[in-house]
Amino acid sequence: MLDLVPEPVAPLTPARSTVPIADGAPGGRARGSLRTAPVARAVQVRPVPIDGGGPVPLSFSTSTRGARGKPPRHFVDLTPEQRVEAVVELGEKPFRAKQLATHYFAHLTADAAEMTDLPQATRDRLVGALFPDLLTAARTLTADAGATVKTLWHLFDGAKVESVLMRYPNRTTLCVSSQAGCGMACPFCATGQLGLTRNLSTAEIVEQVRSAARSLADGDLPGGPARLSNLVFMGMGEPLANYRAVMESVRRLVAPAPDGFGMSARNITVSTVGLVPAMDRLAREGIPVTLALSLHAPDDELRSELVPVNTRWSVDEALDSARNYFEVTGRRVSIEYALIKDMNDHAWRADLLGTKLNARGRGWVHVNPIPLNPTPGSIWTASDPAVERVFVDRLRAHGIPTTVRDTRGSDIDGACGQLAAEEE
Ligand code: SAH
Repeated sequence: MLDLVPEPVAPLTPARSTVPIADGAPGGRARGSLRTAPVARAVQVRPVPIDGGGPVPLSFSTSTRGARGKPPRHFVDLTPEQRVEAVVELGEKPFRAKQLATHYFAHLTADAAEMTDLPQATRDRLVGALFPDLLTAARTLTADAGATVKTLWHLFDGAKVESVLMRYPNRTTLCVSSQAGCGMACPFCATGQLGLTRNLSTAEIVEQVRSAARSLADGDLPGGPARLSNLVFMGMGEPLANYRAVMESVRRLVAPAPDGFGMSARNITVSTVGLVPAMDRLAREGIPVTLALSLHAPDDELRSELVPVNTRWSVDEALDSARNYFEVTGRRVSIEYALIKDMNDHAWRADLLGTKLNARGRGWVHVNPIPLNPTPGSIWTASDPAVERVFVDRLRAHGIPTTVRDTRGSDIDGACGQLAAEEE
């Protein structure tokens, strides 16, 4: 689970005028209103189809740089069959593809110098063509005596994203970004203020994971070498608005070595503002990742302010879809609820939330209240501890399992948005 919450500062990029919505989004909707938002920014939503969805085109021209705006093609973007084709196209034997996959997914390396079972010229050629440097660490910050490490990455085109690695006594969790910026415009969220720059590619997502897994394996964090056990899509971006790349990355994460990292799907959490068609599609994927729904209010009037996409898919529609996710996958759904002082922390709202969740059955959901990590300049702050306690107690009185999320790394500005914004 996310233990770090985004803390924004000034906008990284001007807000975009449109919000990309996952596929299946029906026709345009009214303008989202951010009446009480600290950053008053009208958001116009129009349907934008989910990115491509087709196979990655194979193009073995001399340059590894992708088409304008697209990251260079990377080994991880390719299917196992495409990797073989790519290797052959480069004049090498097909079995080299498997060797490369083993180095990448099992040894967690993309460094030719470490691939000593390949002839020097071969590895230089293959790595040069198929493993472009997609992420460059621009800054790292540590907190919690080194157990929390936040990295600001620069992408090939100068876009910036963040990931946060957290080590606990019995697990390790990486929070990854799925987009540079975000188009969902939630007014309390750092990334929401940045606007969307672009979707990340599959390889840009997976490289965040490989880098963290390698760092853990190398014993960079206190406590000795470790494996990456958990992953949350709670960094920058709305993962379900970048559906294809996110799902492809999930496939790489769960595939057994040498085609993937062999992680457990249930240890992967996809967090969403509630893009209902994409949630329904996720339920049908047959990969039982954990779904987190960022609800933040049980009533449409308030939720439409806090999560503007609510004007497209209401509280009830999002909860119905979350319940459906549980039915189809058997995975208990998490409801995320940032507690904002005097905004959404009323006891009656806890009661309404409990009622709405129980109306859809028992045992299918739990709630994670998160103390708001206020954004600089925001009129909003976290709820008083006593109010938070009442809110939690009310939910529990309804029989809803409720766990307040600890906010790791608040001294390094929680999670995503802050570093990227500071860089501008
Ligand atoms: N777009 C996705 C995932 C990224 S945000 C989503 O919204 O779910 C991950 C979680 O952090 C979400 O629940 C989001 O609402 C929450 N969050 C964002 N900004 C926050 C803040 N300032 N304080 C507390 N939680 C925040």
